[in-house]
Amino acid sequence: MIVLVINCGSSSLRFQLIEAEERKRLARGHVERIGAVSSIATLAQSGQDPERHGFKAEDHGQALNFVLEYLTSEKFKVIEGVEQIEAVGHRVVHGGEHFSDSMLIDDEVVEAIREAFDLAPLHNPANLKGVQAAQKLLPKVPHVAVFDTAFHQTLPPEAYLYAIPHRLYRRYKIRRYGFHGTSHYYVSRRLYELGEANRSDSKLITCHLGNGASLAAVHNGRSVDTSMGLTPLAGLVMGTRSGDIDPSIVFYLNEKEEMTLNEIHSLLNRYSGLLGLSGYAGDMRALMEEAEEGDVRCQQAIKVFCYRVKSYIGQYMAAMNGCDALIFTAGIGENSHQVRSRICSGLESLGIELDPVANREVKGEGLISRSESETAVWVIPTDEEMVIAIDAMKIARAAHQTPWA
Ligand code: ADP
Repeated sequence: MIVLVINCGSSSLRFQLIEAEERKRLARGHVERIGAVSSIATLAQSGQDPERHGFKAEDHGQALNFVLEYLTSEKFKVIEGVEQIEAVGHRVVHGGEHFSDSMLIDDEVVEAIREAFDLAPLHNPANLKGVQAAQKLLPKVPHVAVFDTAFHQTLPPEAYLYAIPHRLYRRYKIRRYGFHGTSHYYVSRRLYELGEANRSDSKLITCHLGNGASLAAVHNGRSVDTSMGLTPLAGLVMGTRSGDIDPSIVFYLNEKEEMTLNEIHSLLNRYSGLLGLSGYAGDMRALMEEAEEGDVRCQQAIKVFCYRVKSYIGQYMAAMNGCDALIFTAGIGENSHQVRSRICSGLESLGIELDPVANREVKGEGLISRSESETAVWVIPTDEEMVIAIDAMKIARAAHQTPWA
């Protein structure tokens, strides 16, 4: 079954076209600067170099229309016609407390995505725009929402409740939700698939370290804790996000620098993290190059990043009373042996012992711990789009088989 996977930001649309049964990617790309004077589409068929096209997309509908025309054009013919697309899978960031699974999109689901606008003001409105544009252009196929928060809906109350008056949870659902759920889900399932852990009897810590970064404790296949919170601002040090800070800093900045709440929000989301610490870049690769040249602040930023990850690993080992496997994924987790090595160094007494050669030489998926390490350490490249495509396929099939659906 051919599934179109869509991930919309406020001015961007990312897509992949996937043959879900065969787990085969047919095409991928993105449109940026939607709504600006000129937009840019970058599109690639599987295994070929990307092409860039300038055009004007006033909205997400026009951007998607351009993508569909490209996929079916005489020149590219990735598919013969749009009718070959049998389902659309949409990444939706926040599902609130409503969804612990992917859902066929109907009016109720749309309403629930809207209800979570306040919780994810940067993401959910854009995600919904993508859903509505795609429903218009592909009205005959099932559309499925796959939520970043769904995998973490199994957190127990002691992990998801904040110690603030309980009525705030009851009234506004202020609690820890967690994000990157599809990625944590994918890498944990991949380890079970490899036969390296048993779903019903395993303690895993999954480390998604990209621009956005989060850890999850996965006990017997279920997420039991995760580092992001009500929003993706909490937890680890990220490219430009602060991660955990003392909440009093907000009031302090308000008083001392006379910053408004909006300005502080922007400071913590866009000018903090690795960028704020280093004063140079939020991009780990760029920081590492500078750090090697001797830049002390870049060196320090990397140290803070690694120390925070290490602290969370310790916390989750305590939460699960051990850890059978630690998994690194996403841009930094998959590619930086230096960061992995720093995070794991000094964890030997907790049973984590990296194999330095395997760690340096791993390409793609692989075991990077010594054979005597109590906790196995893995690198597993994430594939969130594949999870979305497979979920969309399963739900689309069920919808076809259930005439009253
Ligand atoms: P996003 O959250 O945007 O999907 P990615 O998962 O693509 O992010 O991760 C981007 C991060 O991965 C950037 O900080 C980038 O510098 C880092 N990265 C990619 N390759 C390497 C590498 N070889 N060494 C260190 N960092 C890397």
